[in-house]
Amino acid sequence: MSPEEFRAAGHNVVDWLADFLARPEAVKVLSRARPGELIDRLPASAPDRPESISAIMADFESQIVPALTHWNHPGFMAYFATSSSGPGILAEMLTAGLNVNGILWKTSPGLTELEQVTLDWLRQWLGLPPETFGIIFDTASTSSMHAIAAAREAKAPEVHAAGGVTDLILYCSEQAHSSIEKGAIAIGIGQKNVRKISVDREFRMDSAALERAITQDIDAGLRPFCVVATIGTTSTTSIDPVNEIANIAERFGMWLHVDAAYAGSAAIVPELQPLLAGWERADSIVMNPHKWLFVPLDLSVLYTRRPDILRRAFSLVPEYLRTQENPRALNYMEYGIPLGRRFRALKLWFVMRYYGRDQAAGMIRDQLAMAREFAAWIVADDRFEISAPFPFSVVCFRLKGPNEANETLMHKVNDGGDVFLSHTVLHGQFVIRLAIGNMATRREHVLRAWQRISENAPYNEAS
Ligand code: PLP
Repeated sequence: MSPEEFRAAGHNVVDWLADFLARPEAVKVLSRARPGELIDRLPASAPDRPESISAIMADFESQIVPALTHWNHPGFMAYFATSSSGPGILAEMLTAGLNVNGILWKTSPGLTELEQVTLDWLRQWLGLPPETFGIIFDTASTSSMHAIAAAREAKAPEVHAAGGVTDLILYCSEQAHSSIEKGAIAIGIGQKNVRKISVDREFRMDSAALERAITQDIDAGLRPFCVVATIGTTSTTSIDPVNEIANIAERFGMWLHVDAAYAGSAAIVPELQPLLAGWERADSIVMNPHKWLFVPLDLSVLYTRRPDILRRAFSLVPEYLRTQENPRALNYMEYGIPLGRRFRALKLWFVMRYYGRDQAAGMIRDQLAMAREFAAWIVADDRFEISAPFPFSVVCFRLKGPNEANETLMHKVNDGGDVFLSHTVLHGQFVIRLAIGNMATRREHVLRAWQRISENAPYNEAS
């Protein structure tokens, strides 16, 4: 591609994106695609002859975009809603254009050092201790797997060489994200050695039950090595009692990992920091700026105050990657599985600078306020009930009535095309979740979601 062709096509792409972001509601939020439909429409093999960018872009618009569910749509209120902000998108373009690879400090010093700088800036916003070390991975699932491997290294360093561990036990609540169990499976802890501790009425880990489980395992000759507390669980955004869990972890010499993949970003709002109290005591923390800090997918941060252990778990330097030692030249490849390292820090730097803490915190504050207002509408309507506390920007609610009625309601709302909600099951009950996290979502969109919910809900004569 010649520079001239690139320039012209690039301007078109930016125009396309600017139009798309200006009118995100021009598309349906939830794709109407049927399984296999796009596969059937596209050619079975790649072209032998070159095609023009304009032909590719035309197919992108006509074939690919309608087959997407649109996370940038302000009516996207499913799962955890996320945003790709303007500054983040521009930085992604630069990252692709530069295509630098931070396998070592030497292979792109600025990549490594910008990662160090931005993660330290973010650490300050989050109120974490100065000695905290940060590293970027793609997703929270990857970050947590690394944390669990570090926990194993701390408790059972012999496993590093010998493998074949069977007695290490990991604890998390029954509301913990599946990535914790997957991480434990991936590093050979074994699914049967993951204890899912019961939760209280507000879906928080029962710390007394945790302590009982640990004692039982020790009595049985097993080795408790890691406990994972969640701040902002996936179903309800409940907050485990982190300080109590930290006390237990300390008493039994276990690694404490805090999964704050979604809710960690809330700590940039000073008055919300008490909700995360105790996380500064964790050995490791995961939080995802791509979930709630307006950074485009993908960017997950693993923080740890024990980088020496993480490095012990993953450092393996073959001759062809050996470089001159210098205490200021950090080689991130020694702290995790991936060798290749995308320049993800650039988009975090762009986003943090463009919004600054005040504006970023302001957006999170507004989203919390919208969630509270939505919850008030639910409470005021006799047909509905709130299903869980809502400390952040996700509201779990349901129709008072059978699960089928709730499922039908959610599908009817989603079929409308301008709102997308998802669900969970709590105590055997089908519960609808409304998650606010997209920066394009305004009060009018939340109001519209409420109207769709209300008009599709069966009329209750008592109300
Ligand atoms: N942890 C929690 C609490 C989550 O809610 C999620 C996903 O929603 C994850 C981990 C996994 O995140 P990722 O998709 O970045 O792996």
